[in-house]
Amino acid sequence: MNKKTFTLGIFGGGQLGKFLVQSAKKLNIRTFVFTDSVDSPAIYYCDDFIISSYENKKKLDFFIKNIDLATFEFENIPFKTLDYVEKKINVSPKPTIIKILQDRLKEKTFLNSIGIKTTEFYYLKKVDKKKLSNNFFPALVKTIRLGYDGKGQVFFKNKNDFLKYSFKNKEYIIEKLINFKKEISVVISRYKEKSVSFDAFENLHKHQILQKSHVPANISPKLNIQAKEIAKKIADKLNYTGTMCVEFFVTKKNELLVNEIAPRVHNSGHLTMNAHNVSQFENHIRAVCNLKLKKPKRIHKAIMYNILGNDIKKYRSKEIAMKEFFYDYGKKEIKNKRKMGHLTKIF
Ligand code: AMP
Repeated sequence: MNKKTFTLGIFGGGQLGKFLVQSAKKLNIRTFVFTDSVDSPAIYYCDDFIISSYENKKKLDFFIKNIDLATFEFENIPFKTLDYVEKKINVSPKPTIIKILQDRLKEKTFLNSIGIKTTEFYYLKKVDKKKLSNNFFPALVKTIRLGYDGKGQVFFKNKNDFLKYSFKNKEYIIEKLINFKKEISVVISRYKEKSVSFDAFENLHKHQILQKSHVPANISPKLNIQAKEIAKKIADKLNYTGTMCVEFFVTKKNELLVNEIAPRVHNSGHLTMNAHNVSQFENHIRAVCNLKLKKPKRIHKAIMYNILGNDIKKYRSKEIAMKEFFYDYGKKEIKNKRKMGHLTKIF
């Protein structure tokens, strides 16, 4: 191990980590990945890696000794781990922010407290279930922690079904189901009070997993500006450093409700690698490594398709057309609904 040059430590070794590592390389920044999985695409591209549980103090100490600062590609890295590292070395974004955003209840409460609208929701432990109005349904129950891509979510068509259901010993929120017009997201990067964001991406989910994203989103310029302003307000209030994504529902009345904040680079921003002058990954590296952010400019219209599970096999043998960019994450194990790659088409 040779730590003469500046080294960025990255927690998590998935595809987001892989693209972060590649962007860092472009900027001559060494990377050291800490992942808890052997099947981690990023380890083939970084300069060094450790495969270990995120709780292993000895490995964490070695990691800290060999990096200059740390970031992460995934918000579900245990808070305790990030907090331990932060006591010895700079971590961006700050672990205290992750503590809010790892928890759906804290996240939505924070958003409402700064005047940003979300879906109507209740903390399941504190709500009198019988008093919920019939009009609140259909509704979704979501685990407060560790839920993503629809994991830990149960759908209830009506109040009767909900009252009959027995919940496991976990913490949940119940949220009104929105009959939205569309979903959009804004990816924003912030460093020392300056921020830059991409125009909104329009997203389509299937079974709660992102299926495709495209730019430009089919929304009015006014709504695009509003969404970017909301993203900026959130980033400013959190005093955020790095790239994050704000996911919105656009209601039938053209109102914006924030569904979720991802304190990291995001799947909907994959198309920035081919459609813009700078990618979400590069701006994240720039923000956390003290480099000037690049203002995003769109060069092409684009659409990105996620490739899940066994579908990757078809793409591996398929001719890729001009203006198409195929990314195979190189994951060893193919699992149903696992994100295995993506394809971006530019126009
Ligand atoms: P989440 O895990 O909260 O990010 O949800 C994943 C996806 O499920 C969202 O992008 C929506 O497509 C759908 N979804 C989640 N919550 C709601 C809701 N309250 N109403 C309608 N659709 C939802």
